[in-house]
Amino acid sequence: ATPGRILQIRRDFPVLERQIHDKPLVYLDNAASTQMPRQVIETVSAYHTYHHSNVHRGVHQLSQEATDLYEGAREKVRAFIGASSVKEIIFTSGTTDAINLVANSWGNRNIGRDDIILISNMEHHANIVPWYMLAKRTGAKIEVIPVLDDGSLDMDQFAALVRKPNVKVVCVNHVSNALGSVNPVEQICQICRERDICTVIDGAQAIGHFQIDVNQLGADFYAFSGHKMHGPTGIGILYGREELLQEMDPYKGGGDMILSVSFDHISWNELPYKFEAGTPAIAQAVGLGAAVDYLNGLDRTYLAKYEDELLAYATKRLGEVPGMRLIGTAPQKVSLNSFVIKGVHPHDIGSILDGEGVAVRTGQHCAEPVMDRFCIPATTRASMSIYNTFEEIDMLTEALLKVTELFDVND
Ligand code: PMP
Repeated sequence: ATPGRILQIRRDFPVLERQIHDKPLVYLDNAASTQMPRQVIETVSAYHTYHHSNVHRGVHQLSQEATDLYEGAREKVRAFIGASSVKEIIFTSGTTDAINLVANSWGNRNIGRDDIILISNMEHHANIVPWYMLAKRTGAKIEVIPVLDDGSLDMDQFAALVRKPNVKVVCVNHVSNALGSVNPVEQICQICRERDICTVIDGAQAIGHFQIDVNQLGADFYAFSGHKMHGPTGIGILYGREELLQEMDPYKGGGDMILSVSFDHISWNELPYKFEAGTPAIAQAVGLGAAVDYLNGLDRTYLAKYEDELLAYATKRLGEVPGMRLIGTAPQKVSLNSFVIKGVHPHDIGSILDGEGVAVRTGQHCAEPVMDRFCIPATTRASMSIYNTFEEIDMLTEALLKVTELFDVND
């Protein structure tokens, strides 16, 4: 049975009380977006109700309150990921925006013709497309770190590829959204650091599952999104090592990111404002700060262990479904199962599950190259979070058994 501590956490999330098609909602699409607890919703609402204004500009009281809340959220994020200074914490609209910032601001300065951009075969499109665009602009080459059959990164191949002379940057996710694999990012960053290669780590799927310490990881850049850690959409973080951020030019121009402007000379604002052009997503940043507070109030070591148990249980129960093939069985995984069922299209699975109140994601998960790697067009993905229960895994399994009965699937 699900521990009382988890049921207690569940009560913080109002949406989990909903019925979908007259069935209790079983929310297993947490890799797309995690739900927000009441504490985050109320903080955002209080911001809109009492403090809404623009930041960094007005001398009036409201603007100062909004600025304090916005900058307060930045400090919360800094402490949360163990960064040394708030100068290293750039608010972006999400992981995608953060990686585009690096590929443009760092990439334009540091990548040239014949340089190599090393990308893993399990990346989300957000950590492929900006690099592809950079490669097209500069004439650089993209090379791919292969993925093993169990969905872990081929570290032998990585060790060989990283020795090529022109490798300038390595782009790898901490956790794969399509497979659940946890990659050995600390080791990757260390190898890269010894060779003076820049590391861009996509932390979108890691941040909601375990504690991150950017200094311990040793990443040059680390990106994540608020909506994958129980915060709002429209807000994300780029952590960058101060030394690197200092020498980069911004790629978005506008208000707030400058110190002075004339028609023949512009000087950039200091960090982190240099990279935050225009009015930022203030309410969303405040909401992200509240999500940090919320997670800090929980025992995350316990929750990570609980999620491991949930994953083990889900893996065992899914094994009872005829025609089941799990995609991604790496020894190090977060609580996520991607799978195909023989003879049934994932979209059919998704629709039937929805009818049972079970929310999962189906498709390519914005990771077409890894689908190609496993020679499949798409998967169904059940991704869990801190509030999911063993009973919900049973409901998922029951719903899948219904699917296989309907489609007459046998092993
Ligand atoms: N990388 C990974 C691994 C992801 O799972 C996601 C979200 N699906 C992203 C990047 C993109 O995040 P966002 O859409 O919030 O920018």
